[in-house]
Amino acid sequence: MTTPRIITTPPGPKAKAILERDARVLSPSYARDYGFVMEHGKGAEVWDVDGNRYIDFCAGIAVNSTGHSHPEIVKAIQEQAEKYIHISSDYYHDVMVRVAERIDEIAPMEEAVTVFLTNSGTESVEAAIKLARYATGRRQFIGFLGGFHGRSMGSLSFTASKARQQERFFPTMPGVWHVPYPDPYRPIFPTPPNGDQGDAVVDYIENMLFPEALPPDEVAAILVEPIQGEGGYIIPPPNFFPRLRKLCDRQGILLIVDEVQAGMGRTGKWWAIQHYNIEPDIVCIAKGVASGVPMGAMAARSSIGAKWKPGAHGNTYGGNPLACVSALKTMELIENGMMQNAAEMGAYMLDAVSEMQARHASIGHVRGKGLMIGVELVLDRETKEPAREMRNAVMHSCFENGLLTLGCGRSTMRFMPPLMIGKNLVDEGLQIFEDALTQAEKR
Ligand SMILES: *Cc1c(COP(=O)(O)O)cnc(C)c1O
Repeated sequence: MTTPRIITTPPGPKAKAILERDARVLSPSYARDYGFVMEHGKGAEVWDVDGNRYIDFCAGIAVNSTGHSHPEIVKAIQEQAEKYIHISSDYYHDVMVRVAERIDEIAPMEEAVTVFLTNSGTESVEAAIKLARYATGRRQFIGFLGGFHGRSMGSLSFTASKARQQERFFPTMPGVWHVPYPDPYRPIFPTPPNGDQGDAVVDYIENMLFPEALPPDEVAAILVEPIQGEGGYIIPPPNFFPRLRKLCDRQGILLIVDEVQAGMGRTGKWWAIQHYNIEPDIVCIAKGVASGVPMGAMAARSSIGAKWKPGAHGNTYGGNPLACVSALKTMELIENGMMQNAAEMGAYMLDAVSEMQARHASIGHVRGKGLMIGVELVLDRETKEPAREMRNAVMHSCFENGLLTLGCGRSTMRFMPPLMIGKNLVDEGLQIFEDALTQAEKR
């Protein structure tokens, strides 16, 4: 017997009071789609301050990988907090080393890695950009349209998923060239005979961008998401990464893979790039790594990472002990069952949404790996015209009925629940989603 979901239409009176106070003192730059005000969470469920219960298909944007307040995570943080909370990366401590050792064990590279610990995704990307320049002596970069890598000036120069994120901020870091990301549902290039847009994109870099517009030997690195996150949960076709890897090898360019959203077991493997059987030179990590304690990492093949001299890069909070113990426990829980659950529940969820597509003309495309699932809504399956307003209406209606979802891309709903979610909550959540969709289609 599940508890009732919505007892007061959200946002209820207590939520409204907090929304008002928030609006007075917090930056209006935070983009909020609806007024969910958290009271507490447990596993894949959250409750708001008015007592409403929601199923969480967002996990704090793929952060609460082990679910909300997993007892073992809470215990690890509590125990560490009693010993020491901070010492700074000027000193040494065991859990910081252990986190780096664990990342070395699971990193998607055969070679040992050198790890730089950060506090967020954007900081992991900044570290990668700086290391790439430092190690190669080259200055320029290639990024992808629709990519999202963060909002500080370096990572922002690559971010290209929403105009609002760029408006009035130019100039960001110069020397970043954007090329299309291979989207099997919305191909930009004429499809090559083998049907793989990935080949078309790499051909474009190789033959159009290189060598006339951009000398390849000036390119330090290519920064790419293994599955585009904010850009729409886009899964590149099979040839893309193998071809990109070959191009990088031929030109002495580093391949930086931004696993901030797709990594840490979310897709059913530790790293999304492992679905493509190639190795990156540098990997950027954050979001799901520490179950919600701010934490990130940049892991580079040692032959590259070892090039930095002491003082070349640093930070105050990197390797924060609370974040480290949470990360260690998170990785243990993911390894001992949650990654497997992500693969199984993800396949189950993908099947269920694919079946829904037969009942709903507005579902243009369904795609996913593990618990990273995108459902793209269209006004017309032939023209594929994005149904942005319908997507937003569905998201709102889900909220009003007890399901937290978010959008990405132009008209895609994304499902990225905690990796421990069970079948019952998946079913219950998908029912709310389908009801919301039915309602929105009638409008
Ligand atoms: C969220 C995200 C970032 C930025 O992470 P922050 O912690 O918000 O700075 C970078 N890359 C990808 C792929 C992301 O999804």
